[in-house]
Amino acid sequence: MNILLVEDDAALAQATAEVLRARGWRVDVSAAGEPVPRSVRQDDYDVLVLDIGLPGIDGLEVLRRVRAQGSHLPVLMLTARASIEDRVLGLETGADDYLVKPFAVPELLARLRALVRRHEFRRGGALALGRLRFDGGARRAFIGDAPLRLTARESVVLEYLLQQIGHIVARERLISQIADWNAAASNNALDLLISRLRAKIAPAGVRLRPVRGLGYMIEAGVAA
Ligand code: CA
Repeated sequence: MNILLVEDDAALAQATAEVLRARGWRVDVSAAGEPVPRSVRQDDYDVLVLDIGLPGIDGLEVLRRVRAQGSHLPVLMLTARASIEDRVLGLETGADDYLVKPFAVPELLARLRALVRRHEFRRGGALALGRLRFDGGARRAFIGDAPLRLTARESVVLEYLLQQIGHIVARERLISQIADWNAAASNNALDLLISRLRAKIAPAGVRLRPVRGLGYMIEAGVAA
């Protein structure tokens, strides 16, 4: 795995790079955003970890430039504040996920693995559970051979859950997948979305099990 880490805090960049290298990832570090779009074009990175607060052009502008050249490289934004503005702007600009500093190393690793897994899945993988099948390339779901009609957000949440079969997915992770400008409504929005999605996938013999205080698990159940 090749990572480009863009972080101007030298101590944090070095510590993070060491942890990732110890796990066998190849890590290039850049302390500034300007060279990043060109590096992404020239090198074969699997993921970009991008701090928002950078000297010169900030992380959001770097991300805009990377996406403007047509790159679909998975991007994990780092932000010093849990501010909704940063988070929302990052996701709107084309980040795939974000992490608030200071972060725990296992959390960083989990996010990176999830990003890479999703990216690979969208290059043609498929996931199945019960009679439910999700085609990663087309990003469409089926029950048996029949296409399942999902909204864009339902599709994103279902894909995210299916990639973590056997694991509890935290509400916060799901909310970040559907975040929009109306962030205050996200908790309710997730509840509504989950209840609609649950009804749609029930005929496939798949259920979303709430795990109290933690989140949800997708699993094969009894067909409705
Ligand atoms: Ca910074």
